[in-house]
Amino acid sequence: MILLNPGPVNVSERVRTALTKPDICHRESEFSVLQESVRQGLLAVYGLSHDRYASVLLTGSGTAAVEAMITSLIPQSGKLLILENGVYGERIEAMARAYGISFTAVKHEWGAELNAQRIEESLQQDTTITHVGVIHHETTTGRLNNLSMVGILAHRYGKILLVDGVSSFGGEELNFEEWNVGAIAATANKCLHGIPGISFVVARRELLDQTDFQPRSVYLNLREYYRQQEGGGTPFTHSVQVLYALDEALKEFHEQGGWRARHEKYRQLAQSIRTRAQELGIKMYLEGGMLAVTLTALRLPANLSYQTLHDHLKAAGFVIYAGQGDAGKVMFRIANMGEIEKVDIDRLFLAIKELL
Ligand SMILES: *Cc1c(COP(=O)(O)O)cnc(C)c1O
Repeated sequence: MILLNPGPVNVSERVRTALTKPDICHRESEFSVLQESVRQGLLAVYGLSHDRYASVLLTGSGTAAVEAMITSLIPQSGKLLILENGVYGERIEAMARAYGISFTAVKHEWGAELNAQRIEESLQQDTTITHVGVIHHETTTGRLNNLSMVGILAHRYGKILLVDGVSSFGGEELNFEEWNVGAIAATANKCLHGIPGISFVVARRELLDQTDFQPRSVYLNLREYYRQQEGGGTPFTHSVQVLYALDEALKEFHEQGGWRARHEKYRQLAQSIRTRAQELGIKMYLEGGMLAVTLTALRLPANLSYQTLHDHLKAAGFVIYAGQGDAGKVMFRIANMGEIEKVDIDRLFLAIKELL
């Protein structure tokens, strides 16, 4: 089954085989070695200096990492400006509400490009804002948000930038220093081609080192993970086999040429999806602006329901992804992360053509 949903993704045999390594206890030295290897491998994805940044590992899906970042790095006195143009920006708002974190939002239509002027006005008008929360790739629509613009504005107004990079980390350009990234949350099983179960936050050490914090959560307290992982431990039972697989996936990632090579592979796959769709008269959901290389949102052809398309493709060995909310009636998505080759895309479009 070829998974064309935005995670979990198809993995290599090498990564899958890593799951069968020996059982280990997360309180033993061999676990510390494994954990440190993954933490370093994650920093190396964007060549980050160990002195300035640290990665913190959690057992949980991507949302766990986003929630740990949002609830652990904004102090009680802080206020979050949330930039929303899809489901995942709205999810950060839901987290702020659930934990009673003070926030304000700049809301856009799903898929719209972030409006620099409106963001700057909010930053100017509300001086109580301390942090800016943004999604890098808004997987709802395939919109790649302009992180450079947001980062420069956050820097100009002295705000800390918190990024949901769950579907971009490892597959898109990320310029941590220039774009002023304070922290970014991501997961093992999207662009890094690992197994679901481990997620992580890469953050500036100066943010993790702050001590004047009242924790909002026990399990998602990022600072406690950081403190213990720096000493080779970890507060709770990790999904150790999934960590083995992530370690292997990171080795594979670096051997294959790092984020630039992965980005280029994704770019070519996405290009072929977009060209093939156009040949069949299937329109792009977004027109213009910055698009991610990991996912393409397409308009459903007239008189074709998502369910019919989905079921036909599933019978041919492909899983595609519905649009979320109301968009589900007019749109479907094809992601191209994971162990996918161009021949798979060719076969996919033969199956779509057959149905049409
Ligand atoms: C997939 C995704 C998530 C959520 O990941 P889960 O692993 O399902 O919790 C969060 N943000 C973005 C941008 C995503 O693409």
